[in-house]
Amino acid sequence: MVDFDSVIDTAALFEACFSSVRAGAEVFFIGKTVLGVPIPCISVGGGEGCSLFVGAHHGAEHITANILLKYALECSPQNHVYVVPMLNVDGCAVSQGALGAAATMRPFFENVSRGDVVHWQANARGVDLNHNYNAGFDKCKAAERALGITSPSPTRYGGEYPESEPETAALCALVRRLSQRLHNVVALHTQGEEIYFEYDGKCPDGARELAEEFSLASGYALSRPENAAGHGGFKDWVIDKFGIPAFTVECGAGKNPLPPSDFSSIYEKVRPILDIAAAF
Ligand SMILES: [Zn+2]
Repeated sequence: MVDFDSVIDTAALFEACFSSVRAGAEVFFIGKTVLGVPIPCISVGGGEGCSLFVGAHHGAEHITANILLKYALECSPQNHVYVVPMLNVDGCAVSQGALGAAATMRPFFENVSRGDVVHWQANARGVDLNHNYNAGFDKCKAAERALGITSPSPTRYGGEYPESEPETAALCALVRRLSQRLHNVVALHTQGEEIYFEYDGKCPDGARELAEEFSLASGYALSRPENAAGHGGFKDWVIDKFGIPAFTVECGAGKNPLPPSDFSSIYEKVRPILDIAAAF
């Protein structure tokens, strides 16, 4: 049994996926990470329309995988839900100090992070996956340069071009495949207890109402992004290219990485958001 009150490493990720298969879900792989690890997607429920929930774009935010894995195991949605619990499997392993076969890359991570791997957010090439989407990418790059970030970094380096990373390319391919039947998308991050629902002044039909329902059910505040975080993100791309309601939910409060002991109290607040999104 996977203990959701503990850190979920790569082995626990796959163990939890197998548990959800035993509980009746289907699991498939959307692609592979830079280090060649398959990225699982859990498919729960059925029907025409669907929702997509994505966790752990950022390495030090691996507790979001705990949330989505437990949700996938427990939920019995009336609609179809696709769950990518840990998009950035490599980055989570870096932050967790659990590199396994990739331990030979430890000097790279140590060097790029100046010894602070615990707060690693990027993938294994030092690209911040949530700055790597084709939504205002040039503005995202300009904001990075203003921060002095021009090369692989533990955080906020968006890569050379949109979808340059296998993880973002895989997720975008999944969204393109589902787009005709996709009702909403929720990406879990930590932390701040906030919900983002717009991109560059765009707000798809029904998105604000859904965000208000999320806020009411969770106690999380509705927010607007500041400059550097305002472009190049996953929800930005979904809103911009498809006009589908897409949300970033900043789970929990404190300092990343949030301790596993926070898991139960976070899950209690975030679970209703996922239930509402899946009920569309
Ligand atoms: Zn994040």
